[in-house]
Amino acid sequence: MARKKKGLLLVVSGPAGVGKGTVNAELMRRHPEIRMSVSATTRAPRPGEIDGVHYFFRTKEEFDRMIEENAFLEYMHVFGMNYYGTPRAFVDAEREKGNHVILEIDVKGAMRVKETCPDAVLVFIAPPSLKILKDRLVGRGTETQESIDVRTATALEELKLLPKYDYMVINDVVDEAVSEMECILTAELCRTDRNHDLINKLTGGETI
Ligand code: 5GP
Repeated sequence: MARKKKGLLLVVSGPAGVGKGTVNAELMRRHPEIRMSVSATTRAPRPGEIDGVHYFFRTKEEFDRMIEENAFLEYMHVFGMNYYGTPRAFVDAEREKGNHVILEIDVKGAMRVKETCPDAVLVFIAPPSLKILKDRLVGRGTETQESIDVRTATALEELKLLPKYDYMVINDVVDEAVSEMECILTAELCRTDRNHDLINKLTGGETI
């Protein structure tokens, strides 16, 4: 349909262990017109991570050059040591083609995107409760007690910014969380301020 031109920019955040990767993967499986932005980072790849798939792994010098060239939509230091950034070109090109782009970034990055791209849609994936979040982290079996404590404390900090998001989706049952994400996409595409061209046509006296 002609009215849906520019794709949406969907910023998805949520605490570690909430399942945002699972929700986004299922959303993308259902909607081939959704793309995931691949961030650049200066951190070393973990076992199994592939350059260009999980991240663009870059040196600090390369990252600095990209900053100078204004190649990032947003970037920042996340855990003190490493830089992470969202390359701008991919996001712009895909949205121009009419594809929706998901940024899976931390809450501070999300706030910066909100400032620079006011039409971005911010979605926070929240756990049903903090207890359930903690249980999920323990259940992964990959985290030390210290890491679980750090991640739980970080989750509390992140939750403080939840009211600044446009939408919240509780990830209790993945299928339901994905359906809610689909509803958000549909609602956003129906917004009058995303349909100026069609509105102008309709109100401009165009005859059938
Ligand atoms: P990890 O090193 O575990 O892959 O990611 C660490 C943190 O960096 C996560 O909270 C992740 O959401 C965040 N992150 C990944 N890519 C970006 C990005 O491009 N920008 C920002 N601001 N945060 C990012």
